[in-house]
Amino acid sequence: MSGIGKLFVISAPSGAGKTTLIKQVLNRFKSLSYSVSHTTRSPRKNEQEGRDYFFITPVEFEQKISLDHWLEWAKVHDNYYGTSKEFVKNSLEKGRSLLLDIDVQGARQIMTSNPDLVSIFIMPPSFEILSQRLENRGTDSREVITRRIENAKSEIVQKDMYQYVVVNDDLDEAVEELCSIFKKEMD
Ligand code: ADP
Ligand code: 5GP
Repeated sequence: MSGIGKLFVISAPSGAGKTTLIKQVLNRFKSLSYSVSHTTRSPRKNEQEGRDYFFITPVEFEQKISLDHWLEWAKVHDNYYGTSKEFVKNSLEKGRSLLLDIDVQGARQIMTSNPDLVSIFIMPPSFEILSQRLENRGTDSREVITRRIENAKSEIVQKDMYQYVVVNDDLDEAVEELCSIFKKEMD
């Protein structure tokens, strides 16, 4: 991938607070863009097409797999998620740095092909707190939460492949730690 923009990848188990943290980082760094992924899951209450995700059908997603549209893609919690190759290429070539919020399977795919990228894993303080946060968020059923906690275990064991690990216990402290990573890597 050519261009002067820098690629950042953030992964975390669902409910660890990644979306909350990313919003704060994007507010702080105006030269950083968010890579809007495509997904086949249904939109949540506050989510907007094109801002949070592009919501597409499984058939559309699979067509794009066969057309080699994705920089990376994965099936997470029974839904497809993918990053558009063209979107990333265009942003980086314009000199924009780009933040990808993707799961560990997707991160592994692009780490191999983009050795210059900066990778960050967000950890919850404990499984109990992770479970509480998912419940408090109120966006997922009990069954979905149980599946997300199960997935969290297999995601957390892969955290060592990331350059940075940030524990999201106190929100303000986690924001500061994350922003200091972006500041250092974007300078
Ligand atoms: P993710 O994007 O990783 O799935 P969210 O950002 O949606 O997670 O956060 C999950 C829930 O936890 C939300 O209700 C959010 O407000 C809350 N949350 C995030 N970070 C913290 C924190 N440090 N302390 C307490 N609650 C938090
Ligand atoms: P959620 O459904 O909670 O928005 O996201 C579930 C998981 O899918 C999160 O771990 C998130 O990082 C991941 N995800 C979101 N977009 C992409 C993507 O484009 N590619 C991959 N591989 N994972 C993604």
